[in-house]
Amino acid sequence: MIFVESTNQEKVQIKDKKFELYISEDEIQKSIQTVAKRINTDYKGEEIIFVGVLNGAFMFAADLIKDIDLECEISFVKVTSYKGTSSTGKVHELIGLTTDIKDKHVVILEDIVDSGLTLSKLYSMIDHNAPKSVQVATLLYKPDAFKGKYPPKYVGIEIPNKFIVGYGLDYMEVGRNTREIYKIIE
Ligand code: 5GP
Ligand code: MG
Repeated sequence: MIFVESTNQEKVQIKDKKFELYISEDEIQKSIQTVAKRINTDYKGEEIIFVGVLNGAFMFAADLIKDIDLECEISFVKVTSYKGTSSTGKVHELIGLTTDIKDKHVVILEDIVDSGLTLSKLYSMIDHNAPKSVQVATLLYKPDAFKGKYPPKYVGIEIPNKFIVGYGLDYMEVGRNTREIYKIIE
């Protein structure tokens, strides 16, 4: 787990907001490899079903599973809570779970855990289906914003409570298509 403080000044404009380079491609990829190694060790000899959370986690999920050397399946759910740069406080399920997870180890793949509201919704969607275990792997985690009961077990990078985009994460649905992560300039 690393706490990031970047001094790089590269700037991008997305719609009405300005962002600056915050986390490099290299740092993202290294943190993903570290998470993958921990999962490979913890679940050695077991089968996993990864449940990726659309849209934001699609890049993290794609990169992470390339470093997983266990027998695994992947499935996706789609939920939404953010409008612009803040959470609406309500999580809507847009695509539910279509895979049978009964008696299986589930690892939820999130792009970012912020308040934890989305996670509670995901836990209730998944718990319904009687898995053997449920853990969370997230690329990014904002510990200062987290209000949930169970913090994510596998965290790539901890960040302060600032709005970020890139590498799958959006601002008003754009900005997902970068290899790096950018932080809002306030
Ligand atoms: P939570 O429910 O934990 O508050 O928020 C989780 C979801 O909100 C994430 O999966 C992500 O879609 C969105 N989110 C939270 N923080 C950020 C952020 O800094 N940037 C972007 N683009 N989305 C965020
Ligand atoms: Mg998300």
